[in-house]
Amino acid sequence: MKKQQGATIWLTGLSGAGKSTICKFLEAELRSRAYQVEVLDGDMVRQNLSKGLTFSKEDRDENIRRIGFVAHLLTRNNIIVLVAAISPYQAARAEVKARIGDFIEVYVNASLAVCEQRDVKGLYKRARAGEIKHFTGIDDLYESPLAPDVECQTDRETIAESVDKILSKLAELGYIDRRVALITTPS
Ligand code: ADP
Repeated sequence: MKKQQGATIWLTGLSGAGKSTICKFLEAELRSRAYQVEVLDGDMVRQNLSKGLTFSKEDRDENIRRIGFVAHLLTRNNIIVLVAAISPYQAARAEVKARIGDFIEVYVNASLAVCEQRDVKGLYKRARAGEIKHFTGIDDLYESPLAPDVECQTDRETIAESVDKILSKLAELGYIDRRVALITTPS
């Protein structure tokens, strides 16, 4: 069997845009095709690797650096790494991209209005009420990717469509087999 080539698939976007959801389905699909996958999800990272870091710009950049460090180690050991992190700053994303090399930037894009309406974790409501400060999209900056490798417009496409866009890009770049198999996920 051909040796798997490592890559980091970096999902950036507002809270509630769909990063974790896409990651979950992408992980399941890649595992079902026998690829070795590891997931670094923002919430999980902040409870472990980045415990104690705040949401200041400095600490957000440090958080991304730490995720990038681990993603790099895994990638160079031929793991497919899925990162789901808001990662609001362009410069921090560019820095990890340069370090890792095999890096696919995915812009998980939904309008702020849609993310706020979804309010998956009730955080927007708390941010609007002033209970959470420095919340991305409300009182903190999000710098959209200038030239993402993939853009998932989750406010107008199904989860399956979003996941398929990423799989197609991975196949196009030679990281996975070019086996066209549309997946079936709930929309
Ligand atoms: P994030 O990880 O970016 O904070 P979540 O994945 O936790 O966001 O939540 C996104 C929500 O949007 C979920 O409830 C999901 O079912 C919904 N959603 C609707 N369409 C899509 C899509 N195309 N891709 C991903 N999520 C979607």
